[in-house]
Amino acid sequence: MKVESEGRHTMTEKKLYTCDICKTDYASKEKAIQCEKNHKLLETATIVGVYKSMNAIKEGVPTKIKVKFKGMDEFIEYGR
Ligand SMILES: [Zn+2]
Repeated sequence: MKVESEGRHTMTEKKLYTCDICKTDYASKEKAIQCEKNHKLLETATIVGVYKSMNAIKEGVPTKIKVKFKGMDEFIEYGR
């Protein structure tokens, strides 16, 4: 009786590195680290809200948000 042993099957195991922030997979660890470092995080940013009166916006939420990320000079404006 001929038995095929498991060892005869070959396969290649590939390792992937995932950026924890945007969930992109990279074959290289360096690229994944680079991707993570490239993201401008809200945790270290300065966030300023632009508000309107309670008559205009009943919920009291800002109508615009301006964000200045760490290492940048200018605010980026985000709308609803
Ligand atoms: Zn990323």
